[in-house]
Amino acid sequence: MISQVPSSFTNWPGLVVSPEQAAGSIRAMPQRTMSFPDHLRAHGDLRMPKVDFASLVEMLDEAGLNGRGGAGFPTSKKLASMASFIGKSIVVANGSESEPLAHKDASLLIHQPHLVLEGIAIVAGALGASKAYLMAKTKNQMVVSAVEAALRERRKLRLDKVPVAPRIADPGYTSGVETSIIQQLNGKGPKPAYFPDRPIAIGVSKKPTFISNVETYATIALIVRSGTSFYRSMGVQGGPYGSQLLTIVSHDGAYVVVEVEVGTPISEIISYAQIDTSAASSVLMGGYFGQIVPPDRIADLKLNQPELRKLGLGVGAGIIGFSSACPLVEASGIVAYLASQTAGQCGPCFLGLPALAKEIGRLAHGAAMPKGVEEIGRLADQIVGRGGCAMPDGAVIITRSVMKNFPDEVRVHESGRCSFANGRPNFFGTKYERLGRN
Ligand code: SF4
Repeated sequence: MISQVPSSFTNWPGLVVSPEQAAGSIRAMPQRTMSFPDHLRAHGDLRMPKVDFASLVEMLDEAGLNGRGGAGFPTSKKLASMASFIGKSIVVANGSESEPLAHKDASLLIHQPHLVLEGIAIVAGALGASKAYLMAKTKNQMVVSAVEAALRERRKLRLDKVPVAPRIADPGYTSGVETSIIQQLNGKGPKPAYFPDRPIAIGVSKKPTFISNVETYATIALIVRSGTSFYRSMGVQGGPYGSQLLTIVSHDGAYVVVEVEVGTPISEIISYAQIDTSAASSVLMGGYFGQIVPPDRIADLKLNQPELRKLGLGVGAGIIGFSSACPLVEASGIVAYLASQTAGQCGPCFLGLPALAKEIGRLAHGAAMPKGVEEIGRLADQIVGRGGCAMPDGAVIITRSVMKNFPDEVRVHESGRCSFANGRPNFFGTKYERLGRN
């Protein structure tokens, strides 16, 4: 067991390197790429120490690092499952970020592409991988430019033993699902595959494939550079440790990406992000797989995923979004968006989601509900857990959260009225669909 050493977030080299914008346990991420000299100043020699597979698994286990893509699976366990594929595997970094409110992965790739590439190099080296891929977000030229420039610099200096091929993810909400990323890299459409554990055994080019989120790779690089003890000196005593990225979305649609020390009160993060919560009617915790809750529900909480999970909450892929609109209208927009994103492979998704979207849309917009409001719960029960991937479950979680957390508003809508008629929807469900962003 690693002992705690006195240290602090202030001295952490960080996913965000912008000391001028730091405030205690929070840093705002600038939309600028760190220059090569900046990177050297912040992180030291670009030639990373080589870490063998067993040591890397042990380090990540001690650090207690969980994947930052949203599911929060322990990274050490995921890596350990590759033990019998050393010398035969492919490594994939997923920065596709298909969640409409998320901006952290794109911002990280713009700000510190070298850090992500270092994490890829460490994992690829430990696995003896033959090739690595970096999947970036659709339609973000700043990300493409930053990654390509960093790769050029690294090639010139021969820093990466395992070649990294950048790729752009297909559009669509399900394109960011791990099995969908594998499909895209195999030259197929962005449809999720039916078996979530398949990439490990049969992934890219039919080779065992380790896939994780870009923030996870950047954090691996920082842990290897700074040491597990340092990482454990940040966060909550006894865990969880370290820091993570969040996208905070204001009710007017503006957003800020911040790196936050785990354990920081959410109220401090909101205040740092200069979000005016006085006009907020609801908060979306965790993105489209998360929950819509009243703002006062999160007032006394801290950024601590295990504790949030006990309350049925989480930040998912690092999203906290505020809205001043009717929470039922927001939920109906998200469910309609998700229904439009089905890959058409599974009945509960292909047929169930449009039916759910129609019913919650009726409730949100004051239309008659011939089968009553109970139909929403019945459809949700029919859909949940029955899709080939978890996408339909996200729609059900959002739906159930809004029905449970805003019972008074549900009653108001049943009588054909709305308490928030002037609020402008901000959770981007149907808006993004109209804009054709995804
Ligand atoms: S649940 Fe929907 S998105 Fe997922 S695999 Fe089935 S059809 Fe595709």
